[in-house]
Amino acid sequence: MKVSEIFYSIEGEGIEIGRPEVFIRLAECNLRCTWCDTKYTWENGKDMSTNEVINEVAKYPCRSVSITGGEPLLQKEELLKLIQRFKKMKYWIQINTNGTIFDEEIFSLADLISMDCKCPSSKMRSELDVLEKTSKLFKQKTQFKFVISDENDYEYAVNIVSSSLRSASNIVFQPEWSSREFAEDLISLVKRDNLKAKVILQQQKVLWGKKRGV
Ligand code: SF4
Repeated sequence: MKVSEIFYSIEGEGIEIGRPEVFIRLAECNLRCTWCDTKYTWENGKDMSTNEVINEVAKYPCRSVSITGGEPLLQKEELLKLIQRFKKMKYWIQINTNGTIFDEEIFSLADLISMDCKCPSSKMRSELDVLEKTSKLFKQKTQFKFVISDENDYEYAVNIVSSSLRSASNIVFQPEWSSREFAEDLISLVKRDNLKAKVILQQQKVLWGKKRGV
């Protein structure tokens, strides 16, 4: 499989923020978000076998992995093999995905599905049927994450939360880092509308800025 990087850190986003995890960042993505902070994944992945990935992860004492990208589900076959191996080894598994690809087998094996819903400022779109199916089948173990830059993104997110995702268990509104001055307004809007969304910043950016592998 094509791997961009593997490193040991703490979760910086969403409802598991602060949890120590080994990050497996796979290369390649089918989207091109305007504010993407991992453009280096779009190409130049290193070819690694499932065994090589597992051996690299096993160097760390942690038994939680976060598989991210890029878009990991572009490498479905190898990703499934990798997750099956981690499952047998009793790892806790988070899979991060951009909301364009559904895979019931892979999602069944994950302990947490972190699914993005792309807002207008990204200039990309997630697939509503992917969000809806995931919410229906994996409600309790899915977080839907909206990266929000401005009021237009907020209105878009609210519309989806109150329609396609009205029964979702975990909604996260994450202020986009380069527009983080909007965070206070975002909190005010969530309070005004009494939304069930959690507003959570990217902790890794607070701690380390744009540094990679942390
Ligand atoms: S889906 Fe993620 S990796 Fe792909 S372009 Fe968007 S932010 Fe970057």
